[in-house]
Amino acid sequence: MISDAIREMPKVELHQHLDGSIPPEVTWRIMKNHGLNPVETFEEMKVLLQLQPQEEGSLLSYLDKFHYPMWITQFYENIAEVTEAVADQAAAQGVELFELRYSPVIHMYAGLTVRQAIRAVLSGLNKAAKRHNMSTGLIVIAMRQHGPHVAKILSRAAAGDSERLHDRAGVVGFDIAGAERGNPPRLFRKAYEIAARGGLGLTAHAGEDEDSRCIWQAIDELGCTRVGHGCSAVNDPELLKRLARDKILVECAPTSNYQTGAVARGEKHPLFTFLEHGVPVALCTDNTTVSNTSQSRESEMFLSELGLDTIAEIHRSAREHTFIKGGGLAVNSD
Ligand SMILES: [Zn+2]
Repeated sequence: MISDAIREMPKVELHQHLDGSIPPEVTWRIMKNHGLNPVETFEEMKVLLQLQPQEEGSLLSYLDKFHYPMWITQFYENIAEVTEAVADQAAAQGVELFELRYSPVIHMYAGLTVRQAIRAVLSGLNKAAKRHNMSTGLIVIAMRQHGPHVAKILSRAAAGDSERLHDRAGVVGFDIAGAERGNPPRLFRKAYEIAARGGLGLTAHAGEDEDSRCIWQAIDELGCTRVGHGCSAVNDPELLKRLARDKILVECAPTSNYQTGAVARGEKHPLFTFLEHGVPVALCTDNTTVSNTSQSRESEMFLSELGLDTIAEIHRSAREHTFIKGGGLAVNSD
């Protein structure tokens, strides 16, 4: 149950993936339209899209849930349509500032160019943003397993569609995601230099499935001012000091962290340690469909321990760390 106060609270979403957040009924409808449904019933389909309790505990089984949505998100209109649905869903949760992230390169199997794959998302974001008066922007992700060279190509394309070049929603940030082991952040330094020169905000998935060294690298070598997950920072007092000192925000995604095993069930979420040390945090969904969660639910999880005022303050201060220009206040004024 979500309390009214949480439901109505203005929220900020800084870390949400498109592919893992498409409402199952939308994926199902598009699959049926194209005769692509791998199972006969919607109930069976939901099992394929949402992490089941017995599948918990590994990042790889979590990532496996991204497989089916990609059958439909290879086509411009589908991408725009699902983006709009994801943004609608965020708006219904009281999200007023919405950063969505996505990796163009895994949506090009049917022939879209990088530019088209980016523009398709922006098209959906713009339509939804107008309807809801919501500030939006896209973070372009390079998948670590595709290597540093592809990351450079993507950061160049991302900078080419930066929001600075648009009247409305554009690309606002750059990120790396995918398997952390074997792909340390430092390998992606050049891609981040290009993104920074293009005026994009910098974040990286780090410390979800690896120790705190990768978070240090994301900050010191890539120049990130935000970190995705950052769970392993709790074991590194020096790093906690650094995050607090330089006001580097950790994009916390509690439900996702328990599901991937980044945080063990029964263990307190790192968010508490971050708050105790003065490290800025955001409450994020990561993937609303895979994790079967919502922005309100992630906020509600901490209501009894943190209280309403602290949760409202987390959302207020997260806004200061947005990559959207003007803190998201100047967008959509056309
Ligand atoms: Zn993520």
